[in-house]
Amino acid sequence: MPQPQPPGAPERDLASEAYLRQLKKTFEQLPNDIPLLLFTDKGGNDLFAQATRQVIRAFRELSPRISLKEYGLDHELARRYQVTSSPTLLVAPDRYSIRWLGAPMGEEARTLLETFMLVGLGQSNLNEQSRKVLRRIDSARQVKVFVSATCPYCPQQAVNGVKAAIELPEHVSLEIIDIQSETELADRYSAHSVPMAFANEVLIGHGAQAEEVFMLSLQKLEAQTIFIPESDAEEVEADLVIVGGGPAGLTAGIYAVRSGLRTAIIERQALGGQVATTPVVENYPGFTSVGGKTLVDIMVSHALQYVQIFQGEGVLDIAHGNPIVVQTSRRKFMTKAILLATGANHRHLNVPGESRLAGRGVSYCSTCDGPLFKGKKVLMVGGGNSAVTEALYLHHMGVKVTLVHRRDTLRAQEFLARRLSETGIPVRWNTEIREIRGEDRVREVLLVDNRSNQTSVFATDGVFIAVGYEPAVELAGKLGLELNADGYIPHDGRHRTRLPGVYSAGDVEGGYKQIVTAAGQGAEAAMTIFADLINPYWLKETTGAAASGA
Ligand code: NAP
Repeated sequence: MPQPQPPGAPERDLASEAYLRQLKKTFEQLPNDIPLLLFTDKGGNDLFAQATRQVIRAFRELSPRISLKEYGLDHELARRYQVTSSPTLLVAPDRYSIRWLGAPMGEEARTLLETFMLVGLGQSNLNEQSRKVLRRIDSARQVKVFVSATCPYCPQQAVNGVKAAIELPEHVSLEIIDIQSETELADRYSAHSVPMAFANEVLIGHGAQAEEVFMLSLQKLEAQTIFIPESDAEEVEADLVIVGGGPAGLTAGIYAVRSGLRTAIIERQALGGQVATTPVVENYPGFTSVGGKTLVDIMVSHALQYVQIFQGEGVLDIAHGNPIVVQTSRRKFMTKAILLATGANHRHLNVPGESRLAGRGVSYCSTCDGPLFKGKKVLMVGGGNSAVTEALYLHHMGVKVTLVHRRDTLRAQEFLARRLSETGIPVRWNTEIREIRGEDRVREVLLVDNRSNQTSVFATDGVFIAVGYEPAVELAGKLGLELNADGYIPHDGRHRTRLPGVYSAGDVEGGYKQIVTAAGQGAEAAMTIFADLINPYWLKETTGAAASGA
């Protein structure tokens, strides 16, 4: 008699007797039963119900651990399990909330096989990092993964859902939905390109995600693209610690590790610095136009191939000695060199109402808050590249934006200035904001024409501020580094500061402040550090300060 073959499994494997014997043996060793409940309509004679039955029959030939009971949609168990569509397959409903809507045919038989294995084992087989993330979930997650029989990427995403449902049965329920048999449901979720995963009605993943990325998306209820592993180490020894995970720090990390330096990047906030909130970047070579966050994700993924990133920990203290000791909110780093790539923070207008109404109409991030102002009236303050780029972004999103600039010419590049005038965005020249008003949220601003000194009131729903950045020099202060007249960290042209083993790169040094220049400075600094650690200039120089400007 020919051996049964789970439909959809790769033919070359299933054709092999040895493979089936191995499968049977594996199933025999599973400690738990795998009870299945199949719900069908009208005698279950439709194509998808028959296909489901056929697939299960093939699997049941492999193991007596798999049992099947079938009911109609009008059965009392259908009501109990809230089953309304045919066919619906519940897997071990006494222990987990895992169900298939539609037939698990084709590629989906691979998901079914893995599900039976995990349910039989009674384990999710999640890796440690994924488990840690998932364990942070403390409320219900209703997961829907849309799949199709012909999609080779779908099993990976569906199995992510299965693993989450097995690891955290008290919170995670899963529906795997075949879009060919559940066309209406697929239409309702616009799931026409699979796999597509939703949790609590929020899209958490489009395409197959790595296990850790799926779990993070599920935890945060927001699609994530990158997972940064966490470390429990209380002390880390390094050749180089980089403070700051923007373009300068990330590039330095890549260069340093490739030179052989044991390197760690510490970033207290979001990776990417200012770039992460830039709507669109059009002058980074290789990308004619790319979203700032997308560019950051690409840089971070690249950096993670080399360097460990400690995100979410702020540096509390630095002791300059041998080694240099960096104390963060989570651990201590002992390092031979430190690179300050701390970037810059938003400059404020410092006018009445600004801080009180921050987050209530006053914003420093158009990519973050812009969508909230669709169809509404806002002011964009500033005349540099940021203000113009962001005004264009808001305009294209349907926000009624007016630019307010304190002079009669823009500081922004000609290309951007031309685009601004082409779009017809109104500009209030020679105008400054004197006060931002509103009780609970921004309602109006008091403007002043700085030539005539005339004031006027402008009704607005929001004020976006892009008036430049202040260098983040707090750590330089802790180290006792003096700043130059403009408030930046002085260096010797090769990114060495006045202190041996302490370097700087990126916007914290001043200069052009472009993504590409920051990346270049990061690379230069890493190469200087590598050369210095092999051949320390501070042991050769007796004259003290290395930094000409220091
Ligand atoms: P920026 O170039 O320093 O421009 C700041 C703008 O805000 C200037 O127009 C300035 O007016 C105005 N301003 C400053 N303080 C003000 C105040 N208290 N009240 C009213 N207006 C004030 O800053 P940015 O536009 O944020 O750019 C920062 C750096 O990033 C720049 O080097 C820029 O080139 C770079 N960047 C590049 C891109 C790109 O290439 N795609 C995009 C964004 C930013 P004045 O002109 O009168 O000084």
